[in-house]
Amino acid sequence: MSKSEQLFSDAQQYIPGGVNSPVRAFRAVGGTPLFIDRAEGAYLYDADGKRYIDYVQSWGPMVLGHAHPDVIEAVVEQAQSGLSFGAPTELETELAEELCRVWPNMDLVRFVNSGTEATMSAIRLARGATGRDKIVKFEGCYHGHSDSLLVKAGSGALTMGVPSSPGVPASLADHTITLAYNDAESVRDCFARMGDEIACIIVEPVAGNMNCIPPVPGFLEALREVCDAHGALLILDEVMSGFRVSLTGAQGHFGVDADITTLGKVIGGGMPVGAFGGKRKYMEQIAPTGPIYQAGTLSGNPVGMVAGLETLRLVQEPGFYERLTEKTERLVKGMLAAAKEAGVPLTANHAGSMFGFFFTDEPKVTNYQQVMNCNTERFNRFFHGMLDEGVYLAPASYEAGFMSAAHSDEDIDATIAAAKKVFARLD
Ligand code: PLP
Repeated sequence: MSKSEQLFSDAQQYIPGGVNSPVRAFRAVGGTPLFIDRAEGAYLYDADGKRYIDYVQSWGPMVLGHAHPDVIEAVVEQAQSGLSFGAPTELETELAEELCRVWPNMDLVRFVNSGTEATMSAIRLARGATGRDKIVKFEGCYHGHSDSLLVKAGSGALTMGVPSSPGVPASLADHTITLAYNDAESVRDCFARMGDEIACIIVEPVAGNMNCIPPVPGFLEALREVCDAHGALLILDEVMSGFRVSLTGAQGHFGVDADITTLGKVIGGGMPVGAFGGKRKYMEQIAPTGPIYQAGTLSGNPVGMVAGLETLRLVQEPGFYERLTEKTERLVKGMLAAAKEAGVPLTANHAGSMFGFFFTDEPKVTNYQQVMNCNTERFNRFFHGMLDEGVYLAPASYEAGFMSAAHSDEDIDATIAAAKKVFARLD
């Protein structure tokens, strides 16, 4: 029995499924999750001492690579001055100022502890500011696990969302409308019918939770247009794409203006930090300046703030995102060429440092249905093959991959060489 197998067995005695977030359990791909001992740069080291080139990057935050010495030093130094005060610190202002300086439409920002809290609070703000209850989201987008967002489309009925988890009240799901991603017509149609009841649209401007699906031209623009026409707020959920697709996320890359932006992952540099921020006229309505309630014991905690500040300092070094995108392109090109050589049908998407591979004959993948039609069995065999070769991909075919600044050309070439071997034995 490997050490990971032993640790997984132990964990299951005390933690539901042995994990604190379901996808970590490897249920989608089968087998035993790796228990991680430590990480450095582009690499994870498991409890059995094996090294992996990591493309999960803690699901996005580690854009600098793991355990960047400057971030670690800042965290250690800050920790010695205290872990949490429950009172304001200058560090919160510094990180908030940095975010407001970088993001063109962010006048004010509030820190929270996770992406889930960021989107949940942004939706409360949109509902409070508009006095409306309904929200629009998209199939295949994930915005965390708050009740209003764990809702899927009902069968054909535009108005009736269906809880995607027991425990979500059907009466609450009624307020969530789920439309098809990249389908501007369905959004226009929905707003034509009930635009004056809709508080907001929330969307991943590059979807990273149904593999990696960038927006088709005109989609994000259409969202902005209908929101303006009907007095609804546009919430761009950049928890994943923020500081990943570009310095100013997907909205900077595609030139779309958000009313509220939600952030997480990279802005905490690996510590639990989320944020929602945006236009002053909305953000001022949050307590204590306004009546819309939102709070948090550990929000803006100093260790998270310094990890975020140090990370944001480093990603703003000249050429950071150009280099990161080049690395992603090197990987994508190499993988596609290797698959072609082996006769394995493969399609890829990428945006900045986010990427996704699809085992499909379709030349382009732009929507949820296409993602669902991909060959999951083949992905699972590919995943395990790559794991054997020392490459750690997300343990599910519907997750985006992430490049970090720590991945060298040699790491990327080694990944492609591993894929060649695995493709050759993939049926
Ligand atoms: N929004 C997006 C786009 C995400 O990808 C995620 C998590 O993956 C979340 C929100 C939720 O963030 P968290 O897991 O920090 O609660």
